[in-house]
Amino acid sequence: MAGKIKVIVNGKAIEVEKGKTIKEIFEKNGIDALVAKMDGEVVDLATKVSKNCTLEAFDFNSDIGRSTFFHSCAHLLAYATKELFDVKLGIGPAIADGFFYDFYVKKSFSQEDLSRIEEKMKEIAKKDLKFERIEVSYEEAKKMLSNEPFKLQLLEEHKGEKISFYKLGDFVDLCKGPHIYSTSQIKEIKLLSTSTAYWKGNENNPMLQRIYGIGFPKEGMLKGYLKELEEKKERDHRIIGRELGLFYTNELVGGGLILYPEEGAALLQVLKDFELQEHIKRGYKLVATPHIARAELWKVSGHYDYYKEHMFLFKIEDEEFGIKAMNCPFHILLFKRKARSYRELPIRYFEFGTVYRNEFSGTLTGLFRVRGFTQDDSHIFCTEDQIKDEIKNLLDFLDFLMKKFELNYMITISTKPDKALGTQEQWEKATKALIDAVKEKGLKFEIREKEGAFYGPKIDVLITDTYGNEWQGPTIQVDFNLPERFDVNYIDKDGKKKRVVMIHRALFGSLERMLGILIEHYKGNFPVWLAPIQVEIIPVSQEYIDFAKSVEGELRNNKIRTELNLEEASLNKKILEATKRNIPYVMLIGKKEKEEKVFSLRKKDGKLIKASMEEIKKLFEQ
Ligand SMILES: [Zn+2]
Ligand SMILES: [Zn+2]
Repeated sequence: MAGKIKVIVNGKAIEVEKGKTIKEIFEKNGIDALVAKMDGEVVDLATKVSKNCTLEAFDFNSDIGRSTFFHSCAHLLAYATKELFDVKLGIGPAIADGFFYDFYVKKSFSQEDLSRIEEKMKEIAKKDLKFERIEVSYEEAKKMLSNEPFKLQLLEEHKGEKISFYKLGDFVDLCKGPHIYSTSQIKEIKLLSTSTAYWKGNENNPMLQRIYGIGFPKEGMLKGYLKELEEKKERDHRIIGRELGLFYTNELVGGGLILYPEEGAALLQVLKDFELQEHIKRGYKLVATPHIARAELWKVSGHYDYYKEHMFLFKIEDEEFGIKAMNCPFHILLFKRKARSYRELPIRYFEFGTVYRNEFSGTLTGLFRVRGFTQDDSHIFCTEDQIKDEIKNLLDFLDFLMKKFELNYMITISTKPDKALGTQEQWEKATKALIDAVKEKGLKFEIREKEGAFYGPKIDVLITDTYGNEWQGPTIQVDFNLPERFDVNYIDKDGKKKRVVMIHRALFGSLERMLGILIEHYKGNFPVWLAPIQVEIIPVSQEYIDFAKSVEGELRNNKIRTELNLEEASLNKKILEATKRNIPYVMLIGKKEKEEKVFSLRKKDGKLIKASMEEIKKLFEQ
C-alpha cells in the first residue's frame, strides 16, 4: 500500500513515498552515493524503504563507500575471468587500495591474460548491469555452488542460515554484500598485478592465482592514482632501505624481524644517541629491563588476560614465561622498589625497550608492521596536580622533535569511553589537564569523544610528511589502571599514602617505524647529522692511502662517520657511487691535501668547501 513515511536523510527529515528505493530517495535529493546505512546498518542502494528510518549516504570519499565500490569491482573481475577462462572462485575482497580475486586455475595468468580480462571487465561495466541481491536457503545455496569447491567450503560455515548471493548479469557469487547499484558506476578500471596465495593462507591447501586491480567512479581518477603510485614507489622505504643497505630481513630469521646492516645500524644509533641526550636534558632517567618475565608479571599487569594473543609465551622448567610485549610493568617495579615521597615526583623513566608482539604474518610490512621493535618508551610517575605540567613538557619535547625532522603534526585528545576504569572525578581532572596543557601551548587540537582507552584519556599525534602522507605518531596516555593493579603509591605532604598517576608515552613510537617514516620523508637523502656515512674519503692514488687512513682516523676520533674507499675504480665512478648512496660529502686526498693540510669537502651538488682539519671538525659539531 502506498503511503508516506518519514525518513531522515543525512540528518535532514523528509517525507517520501513508501516503497521507494534508497537510490531513488538519494537521487531526488541530489545526493551522490555508492552505498547507504539504514538505521546504522550498511545496505544496498537498491533496498526499498518501507518504514520510518534514518539514511546515511556514503560516496567514494568514505571508507565504506570506497570498499563497497572496490568489492563490486572484484565481482566484475570474477565475472570477466569466468567468461574467458576455466577457473574456480576463491575470495574477492576490497583492500585498502583496490581489490583482488583469487582463482584456482591450471596455469598462471600472463600480462596478456590480464589485458584481456581488463577489456572484458570494461565491456561488461558498460552494460549497466545491476547488482541484485538474492537470498536462498542453505540447501539451495549448496546446489547453486555445486561447481565451486572453494565457495562450498565457505558456505559450510553458515549451515542453517539464510544465504545471500549477488547476481550480475549471468554471474552469481556467494556474498554478504553490500554492493553498488550498477556497473555503470564503475567508470575506470585497471588490473595491476598478479601473485599467488594458498587457499585460506594455509600451505597445505591448493595454490590460487590472485589478480589485483583498482577502479574508480569518475573519469580521470585513475591517471592521478597511477602517478601517485609511481611517486610512492620512488620513496617506498622498503625499496630505498634495500638500495641503501639500511635494513634487511631473512626468511631463515622470520618475517617482521629486522636485521640492521652497518649503515642502518649507524643510522639507528644516531637516532638513539640523539634521543637519549634530549631525554637526559629533560630530566628523564635511563633504565634497562629484561626481555622476558614470568607469566605472573603479565597476569598482574593484565596483559596475560587481555593481550595474550599478541604475546609470545613459553616455558622454562615447567613455569610459563612471556617475552616482553610492553615495558610498563618493569618500570612500575623499578619505581616501587622503595617508598616514594611527593618530593621525588615526578619520576621519568626512559628506556629503549625492545618488545616482541605477535602480528599476523600477512600483515607484516617493511619497518611499519613488525614482530620485534624498539620503543622509545617512557613512564612518568607523578601526582594528579602534576599532570598538566608534565603534558606541557611533553608537548615542548614533541614540538622540538618534529621541527628537528621537519615534520608537521596534529593533535587529538580522546575522552572517557562508556566502559572505563577510574572515577568520574579522576577522568575529569586528567582530561582537563590534557586539554589545558594543549591550549596553554597554543596548539590546535580535536576532541575525540569517548575514544580514550578504558584506563585513561590520551593525546594522539598525527604526523604529516613532505608528501602529505599521514602517520600515526606519538601517543601520550594517562593510566589509572596499572597504578591500581600494582598498588603504586607515594607519601604525600600530609604523610598519607596516595595513588600515583602514571603517564605512558613514546615519542617516535617504535624506532623501526620512525626509521621507515624518515626514509620515506627524506627519500633516503638524510640531513648531514643523520646520514649513516657523512664523509666518503677517496685517495686519488695508491701513494696517498696511508695519509687518507690517518685523515679517516682523525675524523672518526671526532665522531664523524666516514668510509674510506680503496676500491679499484676510477675517481669519477667512486664519486658518482657516493652521490648515489646519498653520502653528503666526498673528500679527495692527494698531494695538495697531504702537503698543505687544506681539504676539500665536495657536496652532492658539486659545491666545494675548502677547510682545515680544525674547521672540518667544527662543521660537524652540532
Ligand atoms: Zn560481493
Ligand atoms: Zn607503557
